[in-house]
Amino acid sequence: MTTEPRPARRSAPAPETDPDQQPNTLDECRRCPLWHDATQGVPGAGPTHAPIMMVGEQPGDSEDRAGEPFVGPAGRLLDDALGEAGVTRRAVFVTNAVKHFKWEPRGKRRMHKTPAQREVDACHYWLERELTQIAPSVVVALGATALKALLEDSHARLQEHFGKITRHNGRAILATWHPSYALRAPDPDTRQRVYRDIVRTLAHAKRIAHVDPPDSDDG
Ligand code: SF4
Repeated sequence: MTTEPRPARRSAPAPETDPDQQPNTLDECRRCPLWHDATQGVPGAGPTHAPIMMVGEQPGDSEDRAGEPFVGPAGRLLDDALGEAGVTRRAVFVTNAVKHFKWEPRGKRRMHKTPAQREVDACHYWLERELTQIAPSVVVALGATALKALLEDSHARLQEHFGKITRHNGRAILATWHPSYALRAPDPDTRQRVYRDIVRTLAHAKRIAHVDPPDSDDG
């Protein structure tokens, strides 16, 4: 069942926040203001001890409505890339650096807005909980926001970490493009190049994590 998104309340007073709050649920979280205009918090999803964890930026419009990560167009592209890399979805826990959808109105549409670093920092509380609980063998950062969150370094640059294993807090981190970058590509060649880079990174993650090939019934 989907939840109706909350209407924009642009003229409402600034929402209540407490960056030191230690909430137990996403619904309770007031560590940054993004809860206010989102429909719901979107937690990570996947097996509890998945060998591979993938981290995106934030939920999009579809994810905000569904309450699940990577269910929109970017998620479908990611599913294709996982299939090509020979990684079963059962081996993967997917989540985002920021758990509430940040957006701005454009006509009747809710357009993605990049979260501020202070919001990424506030939401690291939740990302760290997921990393500790899942304890993956390898973490794939999908895009620059995820990489900065995982490395706890607001100056981290995607290009410097591309194709390499970066170790941080005892974790192996691989960096690649966010799937939505392929969707926004200006031409088919660029889209194909970005997509191939994502497939290559997922295949690399699979080798590091020693993931078995998908069963024949995985399609
Ligand atoms: S985006 Fe993260 S830190 Fe901000 S309110 Fe939502 S769950 Fe809390």
